[in-house]
Amino acid sequence: MSQTIVIVGGGSAGWLTAGIIAAKHSVPSNGGPGTRVVLLESPDVPNLGVGEGTWPTMRDTLRRIGISEVEFLRSCDASFKQGSQFIGWQRAEGESYYHPFTAPNGYGTVNLAEHWQASGAEISFDEAVGSQARVCDRWLAPKKPTTPEYAFSLNYGYHLNAGKFVDLLQRHCVEKFGVEHRLGHVEQILPAENGDIAGLMLTSGEAINGDFFVDCTGFTALLIGKHYEIPFVSQRHRLFNDTALAVQAEYASEDAPIASVTRATAQSAGWVWDIALPSRRGIGYVFSSEHTSTEKAEEELAAYLKADAHLAQDQPAPRKIQFQPGHRESFWHRNCVAIGVSAGFVEPLEATALILIEKSAEWVSDQLPEDRAAMDVVARRFNDVTRQHWRAIIDFLKLHYVLTERRDSAYWRDHRDEASIPESLQESLSLWRTQAPWLYETNYRIELFTAASLQYVLYGMGFKTDVGAVRYRQWAQEEGIAMRLIRESTQQAETLIASLPTNRDLLNRVRGKQKAGRCAAG
Ligand SMILES: Cc1cc2nc3c(=O)[nH]c(=O)nc-3n(C[C@H](O)[C@H](O)[C@H](O)COP(=O)(O)OP(=O)(O)OC[C@H]3O[C@@H](n4cnc5c(N)ncnc54)[C@H](O)[C@@H]3O)c2cc1C
Repeated sequence: MSQTIVIVGGGSAGWLTAGIIAAKHSVPSNGGPGTRVVLLESPDVPNLGVGEGTWPTMRDTLRRIGISEVEFLRSCDASFKQGSQFIGWQRAEGESYYHPFTAPNGYGTVNLAEHWQASGAEISFDEAVGSQARVCDRWLAPKKPTTPEYAFSLNYGYHLNAGKFVDLLQRHCVEKFGVEHRLGHVEQILPAENGDIAGLMLTSGEAINGDFFVDCTGFTALLIGKHYEIPFVSQRHRLFNDTALAVQAEYASEDAPIASVTRATAQSAGWVWDIALPSRRGIGYVFSSEHTSTEKAEEELAAYLKADAHLAQDQPAPRKIQFQPGHRESFWHRNCVAIGVSAGFVEPLEATALILIEKSAEWVSDQLPEDRAAMDVVARRFNDVTRQHWRAIIDFLKLHYVLTERRDSAYWRDHRDEASIPESLQESLSLWRTQAPWLYETNYRIELFTAASLQYVLYGMGFKTDVGAVRYRQWAQEEGIAMRLIRESTQQAETLIASLPTNRDLLNRVRGKQKAGRCAAG
């Protein structure tokens, strides 16, 4: 059966969804008519234009859509992201820890976190269990010039220019999959008799009809919120940030180093993100308007920019973005699904928005039934899974705050208030006091973040697991393996440090500024 899918919204959510659905459905293997994908966006409502850090899942998404990595890196001014570095989150004096994307050595076989704690935790967790933290300290790339596209020495995602990313996806979807790109502002939703959406009326007077509608209208939430009135579940009492000041910061010189992690530096009422691209850095202060004023936030952001010798002295004025942290109560209603910030957004920490867009679009693409009667079953399942994802996101983000020892401002003190900590996270923390997070976390949560991610944040923030309680019969035997894996981390780091190029060097090659290696040649 052929059907028409109408995606409303041409931001990252709209075009990623179009690419993921069209790559699978636009040309069916049986030679049939295929699915018609229409993407409609308003010429009057600009995209959010932020959202420049991804998870490693983006490599699979790009591959799935059929975009070459070299084309992506060149077109999107993109760089390699090997994780995040959290500066000043535990105490205010500028200590830091990494959440790298490569899992601890032996992950899946030996729970190194418990052995690391038992050994006295003399070196930091991120350095004990792998090499990526030390590689990132030196601004190195996650791969060599000869490494094939999307392959790696150390796991990575990307930093990218959000505007250029949308342009690339649009070009690719239209040229390769025949996605119909329409400009038009939706003024009215045309309901069908059964309560589904039958079509959309544009201000021009034209109607766009379809069988299935994807709401990617950003904070407007035109279909899921305004039309269907699906309630919004605020998370402001848990994650307080609701305002961001964003700057596209210029480098002081063309050869300034490019950090291979998103830097997240704690401030008095939030944190500053710092995303390094080859030609600029995306820097912004996301804060709680209940805990500070815009003027004070501007001063803190200006001080951050000024203190960095790799940045130019004068920077443009920041753009202010306001949002309500939270998500819809359900996401798929009748023949309409919300993907992107129309479904929800809590804050930029750990770049959880783009990964949820990828996962949601994959689900829709893989599960979309041709039979309308089956759609309600798929919708129910999608809603169950997506609610679990939101619970996991909120617990994971809140985990970054609850272990802080900072008492220097109401913002950090309030984050430790028990009333602001979800019960599910309190329960997990009580479990992790006697056993480190492990593979069962993933089974329980339906994977979005692995236990490895939980471990990096927990132990980076100085959490203690009472390993006395976890010793078991084969502990001694496993301990030998664990100590070997911990020793190997240092050797691995030395080998990689000696062989990996800097992030800047590798990106220059890819971008054709130096002699191309295999990665650059594609
Ligand atoms: C400060 C900040 C930092 C962020 N950082 C990250 C990050 O590092 N990593 C990450 O994963 N995510 C991040 N995000 C989230 C990320 O920006 C979004 O998930 C991403 O941009 C997707 O946005 P969107 O496509 O849902 O909405 P938008 O980009 O807002 O697109 C909405 C689209 O809907 C269209 N539209 C609206 N109304 C109508 C209408 N009536 N008719 C027709 N079309 C209409 C608009 O024209 C537009 O094309 C961040 C968000 C913020 C606020």
